Amino acid sequence: MTHQYFHGSIEVVCGPMFSGKTEELIRRVKRAQIAKQRVQIFKPAIDVRYDVEDVVSHSSQAIKSEPVESAVDILIRLKDSTRVVAIDEVQFFDENIITVVTKLAARGYRVICAGLDLDFRAQPFGPMPTLLALADEVMKIHAICTVCGAPATRSQRLSSVKERVLLGETDAYEARCRGHYQHDENEEQALLPLDEEIKPLSQLSN
Ligand code: ADP
Ligand code: MG
Repeated sequence: MTHQYFHGSIEVVCGPMFSGKTEELIRRVKRAQIAKQRVQIFKPAIDVRYDVEDVVSHSSQAIKSEPVESAVDILIRLKDSTRVVAIDEVQFFDENIITVVTKLAARGYRVICAGLDLDFRAQPFGPMPTLLALADEVMKIHAICTVCGAPATRSQRLSSVKERVLLGETDAYEARCRGHYQHDENEEQALLPLDEEIKPLSQLSN
């Protein structure tokens, strides 16, 4: 893997819940620290599932972070000596995160973003599509489907709450493969025949 340390770069790690995005972010941060590069780690203040300040993975790996209310706070909090900016749960930020991340890369920072590519409805999550398109390097990783053990690309919400943001853990979400992901508990989405009529993307959401 090559990183453009001297020109700035944008790396995006994406995938469903439990796919190891936070572990991968922590791994990259630790390696940058071994290289004696000053790292600042940010997360949206909304994500306080395990800890108000730390970025914590589902396997309990943790690293100190700075929770911020909005994307522009990242620019405000930036220290002179920082070379690498890591942002976890980047999908929760407002659209300004795109400008912030682009600016950081243009100023020579290595920016590492980790976030959900899809929401629980399996629709692209907030700023993620744009971040993925602008990135120099993209890593899309899989979790393990809790039903069949296949690679999982989706996050199945187990409750019927309809809000997009519902923070929770194993009791609220499960990783699922395409075949075992269901849009709605009343809908046998998973069993649609492969030769179904091709619909425009805008109609695929329901
Ligand atoms: P993410 O940030 O993508 O939600 P984490 O890095 O926090 O993921 O956690 C990944 C870890 O979650 C794995 O290394 C594994 O220990 C654990 N885990 C729990 N359930 C699953 C699952 N269904 N598939 C894969 N890993 C799982
Ligand atoms: Mg995570």
